[in-house]
Amino acid sequence: MPPLKIAAIPGDGIGGEVLEAGLRVLQAVADIEVTTYPWGSDYYLAHGEMLPGDALTTLQRFDAIYFGAVGSREVADHITLWGLRLKICQGFDQWANVRPVKFYEGLNRDPSLDWIVVRENSEGEYAGLGGRQLSARGPGNEVAIQTSLFTEKGCERIIRFAFELARTRPRKHLTSVTKSNAQQYAMVLWDEVFQRTSRDYPDVTTDSELVDAMAARFVLRPQTLDVVVASNLHGDILSDLGSALAGSLGLAASANLNPDRVHPSMFEPVHGSAPDIAGQGIANPLGAIGSGALLLDHLGRPDLGNRVRAAIAATIKDGIRTRDLGGSHSTVDVTLAVIVRL
Ligand code: ATP
Repeated sequence: MPPLKIAAIPGDGIGGEVLEAGLRVLQAVADIEVTTYPWGSDYYLAHGEMLPGDALTTLQRFDAIYFGAVGSREVADHITLWGLRLKICQGFDQWANVRPVKFYEGLNRDPSLDWIVVRENSEGEYAGLGGRQLSARGPGNEVAIQTSLFTEKGCERIIRFAFELARTRPRKHLTSVTKSNAQQYAMVLWDEVFQRTSRDYPDVTTDSELVDAMAARFVLRPQTLDVVVASNLHGDILSDLGSALAGSLGLAASANLNPDRVHPSMFEPVHGSAPDIAGQGIANPLGAIGSGALLLDHLGRPDLGNRVRAAIAATIKDGIRTRDLGGSHSTVDVTLAVIVRL
């Protein structure tokens, strides 16, 4: 098998620290060929853009993109997010964002809990449609419009993806999340597509929940969750809640998939650049390492992905943990412990 060609984009803050850890683990299990790109906020401050104009053409030839984090105190969040992460996600039509919420043994939580948030990743509330106007009328009179976009095709492809995923899991249960009582157009369309699509999956049980009720259910009845499908905004928020419940934002892995495989997919931890702990060597690398496992799954090596996940679980169980999990180990300590357990 030829080496897996990976484009690494460390980005900002702890992004570089956790990505380096993830690459060390990937190198320990697979034959990989890594090219690193220095795109991010420093690049923006030097060049006036988060990545060069031909970046997508450059990235297209890779098997996968491995991404750290983006965000800086020196550049506005909407510039860093839209200029880098969303540019790649939307430019490569990575329409499925898969975010497993995994509970581990040894963290005083129920390790049998395990669900996956499937987030629509190409339209919805993050479609980037709208504008700001009327500022010429003077202070206090500006108007901003931010429009959500829900297409029947966009809803159907993510819902079908979630059904297919639910089908592979022992419980075979899918919960759809909307806010269709208040948002009577787009979210009712989503509900209708969900009901229609469910008829093709008689082996998968379903239910629907409003997003506010779902936030409470994450906390109060997490044992009822298996696969959860939600819009871009709802999935974003709920997956952060899930990873915090599991013990730390630093644990959560994610995959931005182009399931059609026309473009490379991108793998990144759920957390951001965490400027409060950057440069101290204490960031939890397990979210990034788990994202590497998702990369291996996507490139046809779930056997290797499972090995990495088992090594992550063993490391936590053995008490080798960074500060966010109540430990005192460094990023490097945890990374080496994972490699030893492989
Ligand atoms: P950004 O603007 O890039 O999103 P942020 O600080 O607003 O950065 P996160 O980076 O997600 O958002 O961090 C939220 C909190 O979680 C911070 O207190 C951070 O220290 C903590 N955190 C995030 N990731 C990790 C990690 N891998 N290890 C330890 N703590 C983390």
